[in-house]
Amino acid sequence: MLHADFYMPTRIFFGEKCLEKGADLLKNAGSHALLVTGKRSARLSGALDDVTALLNALNIKFTIFDGVTENPPILTCYEAGRIAREAGADFVIGIGGGSALDAAKAIAAFATNGEIAPLDIYEAEKRKNPTLPIIALPTTAGTGSEANNYSILTLPSGKQKKTFKADDSWPLAAFVDPRYTATLPIDTAISTALDAFAHALESYLSPKSTVFSEQAAIFAATALYEVLSKAPTLLEGTDREALSLAATVAGFAISVTGTGFPHPLGYSLTLLDGLPHGRACACFSGDYIFYNQRSEAGALRIEEFCQKIGTKPRVLAALLEGLAKVDFTFTEDEIAAHVELIAGAGNYANSPYVLSKTEIYDIYRKHFLRK
Ligand code: NAP
Ligand code: FE
Repeated sequence: MLHADFYMPTRIFFGEKCLEKGADLLKNAGSHALLVTGKRSARLSGALDDVTALLNALNIKFTIFDGVTENPPILTCYEAGRIAREAGADFVIGIGGGSALDAAKAIAAFATNGEIAPLDIYEAEKRKNPTLPIIALPTTAGTGSEANNYSILTLPSGKQKKTFKADDSWPLAAFVDPRYTATLPIDTAISTALDAFAHALESYLSPKSTVFSEQAAIFAATALYEVLSKAPTLLEGTDREALSLAATVAGFAISVTGTGFPHPLGYSLTLLDGLPHGRACACFSGDYIFYNQRSEAGALRIEEFCQKIGTKPRVLAALLEGLAKVDFTFTEDEIAAHVELIAGAGNYANSPYVLSKTEIYDIYRKHFLRK
């Protein structure tokens, strides 16, 4: 049976200086923006200057919150929600990588729901008020957060991530200007491209994929594969353009399907060991390919995917693992500490082959067990 429902409420503007097309949209969005950024990238990329210049020209007030750190902590978003309320902000503009964009979505929800406790954000019935409108300007080409309603937050323990998503946490608009990614260090550019590729691959294999998400996944994977095959001699201007578009399109693909098991397997390496998200996912992309090949449906999907993007499963797995460059070693106890944090994730059911907890241990041991 064909699956072909379609929902994409975010207006996407793409290309150099695309923010110039957004004046009317910003005027209608509100009268006081909270600008949500990390410490440096919004300024460094030039995106913050472009946004503040346009807001000034339109006489829209703004307050800057530049306290978002990588893998945004839920408590930071909670605090920024209070700042938004006190400033009288009536819309939020996220400028940065996935961390700033995901934080902007949570902040937009906390801003209008001052009475809730931080973890109540996950309970729809406790969020009585709609979120503030959200606008997204990505400065990485990776997460695709600008094209979905996911906000991946680090829980107060600092050791686990949990996704917040609401019907109204989609950005109202995204301005995807590839020039903003020009200041990315090469390692970050590769890692974020690996994240986007993981989205395309995991979306394509998901049992929830549709006609639209499949097309998006293949479009994105083809462009990403071409650029990643040349890595690390990235990145021409045309490569940056291709990566930005592919990442946004892959972000839409996972809005339909969610992600598969490389994502949770990688979260422990990111939070406990500081490995960037994209490399953490890519570390397990080979396992994702090989385990899915054990089921008939998975083997077929992997074959199709590779054929469509012009590669072979083994070649693809080797490329992704090579670019992930992960060489941790752990004791049995350390492996258990990693695995137990991620064992309950919902993503395991989201691929043709459903990984058991024993197999999660097997994968971790294969990669990391200290001999
Ligand atoms: P990030 O954590 O947003 O940023 C990584 C680093 O790159 C930061 O130091 C950041 O600096 C810097 N940076 C960003 N843009 C830059 C630029 N143009 N020039 C120079 N430096 C720049 O990285 P990310 O990979 O984009 O986002 C990862 C987060 O997104 C994770 O929390 C992950 O779980 C989440 N995620 C979300 C989705 C989704 O669908 N919503 C999907 C996948 C992953 P600053 O700190 O100064 O900004
Ligand atoms: Fe991701």
